[in-house]
Amino acid sequence: TVTASEPPAPTATHCPYCALQCGMRVAPDATVSGREDFPVNRGALCGKGQSAAEVLSSRVRLTGPLVRSATTGRLEPAGWDEALDTIAAGLDRARTAHGPDANAVFGGGGLTNEKAYALGKFARTVLRTSQIDYNGRFCMSSAAAAGQLAFGLDRGLPFPLEDIPRTGCVLLVGSNPAETMPPALRYLTELKANGGTLIVVDPRRTRTAELADLHLAPRPGTDLALALGMLHLVVAQGRADEAYIRERTSGWEGARAAAMAHWPEYVERVTGVPVPRLREAVDLFAGAGEAMVLTARGPEQQAKGTDTVSAWINLALATGRPGRPHSGYGCLTGQGNGQGGREHGQKADQLPGYRKLADPAARAHVAGVWGVDPDSLPGPGRSAYELLDALGGDIRALLLMGSNPVVSAPRAAHVEQRLRSLDFLAVADVVLSETAELADVVLPVTQWAEETGTVTNLEGRVLLRRRALTPPDGVRSDLEVLRELAARLAPDLEKGFPADPEEVFGELRRASAGGPADYAGISYERLAQGDGVFWPCPEPDGAGTPRLFLDRFAHEDGRARFVPVTHRPAAEEPDAEYPVHLTTGRVVAQYQSGAQTRRVDELNRAAPGPFVELHPRLAARLGVAEGEDVAVVSRRGRAVAPARLTPGIRPDTVFMPFHWPGPGRANTLTNPALDPTSRMPEFKVCAVRVERV
Ligand code: SF4
Repeated sequence: TVTASEPPAPTATHCPYCALQCGMRVAPDATVSGREDFPVNRGALCGKGQSAAEVLSSRVRLTGPLVRSATTGRLEPAGWDEALDTIAAGLDRARTAHGPDANAVFGGGGLTNEKAYALGKFARTVLRTSQIDYNGRFCMSSAAAAGQLAFGLDRGLPFPLEDIPRTGCVLLVGSNPAETMPPALRYLTELKANGGTLIVVDPRRTRTAELADLHLAPRPGTDLALALGMLHLVVAQGRADEAYIRERTSGWEGARAAAMAHWPEYVERVTGVPVPRLREAVDLFAGAGEAMVLTARGPEQQAKGTDTVSAWINLALATGRPGRPHSGYGCLTGQGNGQGGREHGQKADQLPGYRKLADPAARAHVAGVWGVDPDSLPGPGRSAYELLDALGGDIRALLLMGSNPVVSAPRAAHVEQRLRSLDFLAVADVVLSETAELADVVLPVTQWAEETGTVTNLEGRVLLRRRALTPPDGVRSDLEVLRELAARLAPDLEKGFPADPEEVFGELRRASAGGPADYAGISYERLAQGDGVFWPCPEPDGAGTPRLFLDRFAHEDGRARFVPVTHRPAAEEPDAEYPVHLTTGRVVAQYQSGAQTRRVDELNRAAPGPFVELHPRLAARLGVAEGEDVAVVSRRGRAVAPARLTPGIRPDTVFMPFHWPGPGRANTLTNPALDPTSRMPEFKVCAVRVERV
């Protein structure tokens, strides 16, 4: 019993931002504190998590629908019925005039599992469109593709974070947790305190690289060659684990031959990493009794991202790491529900439970749960960038939830122009993002602390985010929006879109049952009682699976597969006109497109705007001083931001964070060249020139 003198208890929930999904408490007055009892972050939160509730009461929070007026051309306040009727009419017009694929749906890696599930179901049953994908395609899709190829199953980390400090050596490739998920840094400092070693591969000497025993700084876009060079030395030095290769893998000969063609001296020429550093890395990694490779966006956001991750996985396999205790390969996913968001059907080629949309058995199972004819389900559609590029062409109308591609998509000025060319655009968001500003209808929706739902963190740990605060009047949940739209567009299907997240999760469990990401044994009741459940968990009383692959890999023969890969240049290499590499990334005080974090005063003070990081030698050559505006120009456009000089970046490379719109928008410059397998754009490397302004 709570007496009048006791304040109401805070609610235990999770941060809305990154894939760490830190445990936090939210008090009724919206005060946030870290949860000591949650093992992932043990009470620690970064500034984004600490200030996450401020967006909810921000003066720029949307609290009522907006509809673009035919008279003024401006977004004007409207009632919910008018807004929903307008969306239904816009989608129906496109469908009637041009067929179901004239409608597209774009989701987000921050949406809960329930929303991602309902959005995929809405696209494929109500709209019957194949054109659905989400911004997670821009996040970890290359690691997902490479994990599928190698292990037959992709789960960001196939082991819990707590295994990191217990291993002997971590090879961290293209990841900067000091900026992207600071509470995770303790796993690396504990590793070192336990006597383990840390190798960081990054063109920049980041705050994470400062911690490393060895920092390798390859030219952007060449870490595939670096991995092959390391594998070459592993073989040449007789350090491959032949027994493991024989018993647990297939395809070694092809991968071995590809690596042997990459001589260390050649690798030095390609990457700029001296041969002695390469040997040092091999000594640390292959010499450790237990070791793991962890990748993030660096190797993944390349037009050869899948091959690059495959090269790092090959190194892990050749040294006998995956499927052994405190060892293996894992990907540090980026967005809050980057893992769960790709498992339940908002990805162009997938159905709930991580089933493949093209698989007839998967289609039959999911169609059975949805009560529709399997033949009525459309096939796989376009990937995220291809979908955005087709807007205004054969795609005439778009429903977008939880994403802001005007800032976050590659070649962003072109994407913005495609969005403007649509017949109809509807956006559901918490604030008027740069993409929402272009919409015909904007719907204000509830956010993390105002609703209940599940997310799956980077470990594959399914978590319950609880409602802690009452949403403002005039705001509805994404699930309510989908139900209302289903009622208008396909009344016979309305019942299949409950607004209660627990009811949606019940159906998601059935749809995922028997699939690779099996949630059948996971219930809200179980999640409310503990620290989450690792999928797969097929049985109601099952323990879940914190560690995958200990006995067998997920391919039919139980073996992991080497994928033979060879180095190739980036889609765009420096030349006389564009002589410098550009690479992009994040800063600690902002998150993704900044739609939410740019609305928080404290975060804005810490990171008020974009900048161009460059080496003092490059700056001297250009005659640029610290703080002076510089223009960065690529074949796609021009961005202007103040120079920030640091010796911690390669002299042939500049770096820009990508959180801001306007003249300093980094994604104006980035190259949408796509990986042939994952369809990941090449965010991490393109050619630019830098000019004084
Ligand atoms: Fe939130 Fe990630 Fe910061 Fe944790 S590290 S508080 S999950 S943004």
